[in-house]
Amino acid sequence: MSTPTAPDIAAIVRRVISEIAAGPQGAAFAAARSAGASGPAAATASDAGRGQVGSHGIFATVNDAVGAATEAFHRLEALGMEGRRRAIAHIRRIAIADAEELGRMEFAETKIGRLEHKIEKLKVLGEKVPGVEFMQSEVFSGDHGLAVIEHSPFGVIAAITPVTHSLPTIACNAINMIASGNTVVVNPHPSGRKVAAEGVRRFNAAIHRDLGIDNLVSLVAEPTLESAGELFNHRGVKLICVTGGPAVARAALQSSKRAIVAGPGNPPVVVDATADLDRAARSIIQGAAYDNNLLCIGEKQVFVVAAVFDGLMAAMERAGALRLSAAQVDALTKRAIVMAGEGPHRHPVPCKDLLGQDAAVLARAAGAAGADGLELVFGETDVDNPFVPVEQMMPFLPFIRCRDVDEAIEGAHESEHGFRHTAIIHSNDVRAMTRMGRLLDTTLFVKNGPSVAGLGLGGEGYLSFSIATPTGEGVTTPLTFTRQRRCTLVDDLRILGSPDPA
Ligand code: NAD
Repeated sequence: MSTPTAPDIAAIVRRVISEIAAGPQGAAFAAARSAGASGPAAATASDAGRGQVGSHGIFATVNDAVGAATEAFHRLEALGMEGRRRAIAHIRRIAIADAEELGRMEFAETKIGRLEHKIEKLKVLGEKVPGVEFMQSEVFSGDHGLAVIEHSPFGVIAAITPVTHSLPTIACNAINMIASGNTVVVNPHPSGRKVAAEGVRRFNAAIHRDLGIDNLVSLVAEPTLESAGELFNHRGVKLICVTGGPAVARAALQSSKRAIVAGPGNPPVVVDATADLDRAARSIIQGAAYDNNLLCIGEKQVFVVAAVFDGLMAAMERAGALRLSAAQVDALTKRAIVMAGEGPHRHPVPCKDLLGQDAAVLARAAGAAGADGLELVFGETDVDNPFVPVEQMMPFLPFIRCRDVDEAIEGAHESEHGFRHTAIIHSNDVRAMTRMGRLLDTTLFVKNGPSVAGLGLGGEGYLSFSIATPTGEGVTTPLTFTRQRRCTLVDDLRILGSPDPA
């Protein structure tokens, strides 16, 4: 019989830990650790931590990843808020310092979007995603003493991330989730798994060097739909957070566990007769051209009142976008939107080889001359053009001529499919803004700016790349990933009435 090697032993220990955490004894294990027990369970867990040095979050199986994340969760508990702050500081620092290199890797692997925006997304998340400063307790005090509402972690969170921002979503989720004391296991999109693994490895290596904890962010190295399902159903996973399109949003909503769902969008824009047309044109280009319109919040179709339609089209050209003729729009539509699914589920989707490609590529596909560096192509369509209902995720925008602002708002509402994700209006009429805001009822509603302003980029507020729409948490923060606990002290520590002057 051969003697087990050190890596074999480490793997066995990890499996045992994950089975303990997942099984009925899980509670006893947790209790032993939080009580600081030095019994067999606690010793096994810390041994496993040493055994995993070098894994830095990359795992072949869901079970191993959840086991390691469970152990990391208990070790993070012991380090308090300062430990969380330090761990997050490493993720921020690496996202900023390595943005160029990791952005290039993401662009080379996914082959969609724009390199400069891959880099920028990493930098801005390092600066703008909220961390432990959001972890404020609430206090109620009165005649009967004190009640403190604390925000506690769930434990291990399962995260599913999209190809459109593979590493940025992971980094952003990790900052939020670690700030609130959780650890996370990611099943990344298969087409962005390599950059995801590289980022996760760098984050964990730096955190491990500083704090001695590995695997605060763990990742399934070869993600599949099966591994996503396994992760959803693992008993060690306490909460699910998915960021993606309709299929994964549906799967998470049907899960038996609590899920935070950042689902698909199809953001419409309304431009009315009171708008500043040049400002509207610049904003539409800035938002829709960002990363070649891969953002779920990016402008996808524009409803314009007839009185200013031609003026806006001219303003778009002045701002540098290329207008396609009707024939060119037809040619692009046939090429860029294709049918998928069978029978009653057959529906139009963006064609994979044009998704996230440069505007110049789309222009050429339409039969127009598109110079490199072109940011956006656009053209007039009717409301039935498939570019209107489909979330195209490419830098072509259909513009629809509407009788008046009410027809524009109605068209916008229809095209958003009730996702209640994001909408944009360019107007100086507060009543029109109010009508649109009430009807579409979206999580983000941007007025007189680019969609990205809704994430604090050129607007106010904080950033996240997971905007929880169907489940209602909105732009996620550390508090999104917490449980409320109330700690009540009855009658003491309160001064009743005025002190006696004598
Ligand atoms: P996608 O839905 O194809 O994939 C997203 C993730 O879900 C991937 O990891 C994929 O492997 C996984 N997945 C897909 N079907 C699944 C299923 N049935 N069970 C489990 N996992 C499954 O989306 P994508 O192309 O990577 O990203 C674009 C989509 O994501 C767009 O619809 C966009 O609007 C949306 N998105 C939303 C947000 C948000 O914050 N709301 C952010 C980014 C992207």
